[in-house]
Amino acid sequence: MIYLDNSATTYPKPPCTAEAMNLAMKKFGANPGRGGNPLSLKAAEEVYKVREKAGKFFNAKPENIIFTQNATMASNMAIKGILDSNSHCLISNYEHNAVWRPVHRTCSYSVFEICDTQGETLYRLSGMLRKNTKCIICTAVSNVTGRIMPVKAICSFARDNGLISIVDASQAAGYIPCDVKDLGCDILFTSGHKGLYGPFGTGLLVLNTDVQLKTLIEGGTGTTSNEAHQPPFPPERYEAGTLNVCGIIGLGAGIDFVSKYGERINEKEYELTADLRASLVEYGVTVYDKEFNFTPVTSFNLSDVSPAEVDERLSTAGICVRSGLHCASLAHRTLGTHERGTVRVSIGAFNTRRDVYALLKVVKNI
Ligand code: PLP
Repeated sequence: MIYLDNSATTYPKPPCTAEAMNLAMKKFGANPGRGGNPLSLKAAEEVYKVREKAGKFFNAKPENIIFTQNATMASNMAIKGILDSNSHCLISNYEHNAVWRPVHRTCSYSVFEICDTQGETLYRLSGMLRKNTKCIICTAVSNVTGRIMPVKAICSFARDNGLISIVDASQAAGYIPCDVKDLGCDILFTSGHKGLYGPFGTGLLVLNTDVQLKTLIEGGTGTTSNEAHQPPFPPERYEAGTLNVCGIIGLGAGIDFVSKYGERINEKEYELTADLRASLVEYGVTVYDKEFNFTPVTSFNLSDVSPAEVDERLSTAGICVRSGLHCASLAHRTLGTHERGTVRVSIGAFNTRRDVYALLKVVKNI
């Protein structure tokens, strides 16, 4: 089986992820922050180490690293923590449904276009501001085409206009630098199970602001327990209930893996992606957003064979890709592919040139 759907979740994970989870389960499976017993303290200490690792990775204070169950949870926490029915926000025309749907439910919003140039994008943005515009949300990388977005400029525009900026780094973390200070964003969120090589059930909300978010869920935190309301300070304010300790420890190992080998892995992934794209273009296949800087994600279409059929043919050959809308209707509307979607190929740390050749052989035959 050849796995080329690493944008959905990376697979396989490096052995260190599973080993760390196994160790956590066996050696310190107590509830962190819920007691003074040695095992609970050990669990809390190990969780804190991951907070520190993630803090270093994103250049944020450890207490501003909030563990969530996935990027969607983190996105909902940010959006509903800031916006309400009286506010307006701006979202890009490439947003994942993890942004579009909670925004649609929460407030009024306008969709801005990521244009061919940064200047044009900012010019359009400036014409869309309203009195009650409170925030701008932009994905750092499209999960459909791998296109890298001008988020740094967008965050700077947000700051200049007194708006809060939220960056979706679900397809960026582990592929391009995600230093929140350098990006200048107020809030960043990401999956833990994609380019950070953590397990399912992990995501991160990273705060680069002192703005206090309204809480999405409330409950036990092991601190200020006599009070009826959530503690005012992060991370406890946003982490009600028992943490996914094994998942968090696995995520820590994934972050170690990416921190150590990321550059080498990325180099290979980009090389394979560039080769893949060049061959597809040579076959006369449409490759979307090929003129922009990219991460190892490629969307393509054959003119007279549906993406679903291409997917089926690849599956029959033992090759896993993903066809359809990739939970990103806005992006597909932007590309004009919202009727049938695209075929998406996403390369990960463990893919080889042979995997890409195998895929190309099937596509060529079709
Ligand atoms: N945002 C983007 C850009 C994504 O690609 C995804 C997942 O594919 C998400 C958000 C949601 O991630 P999760 O499944 O971890 O909630």
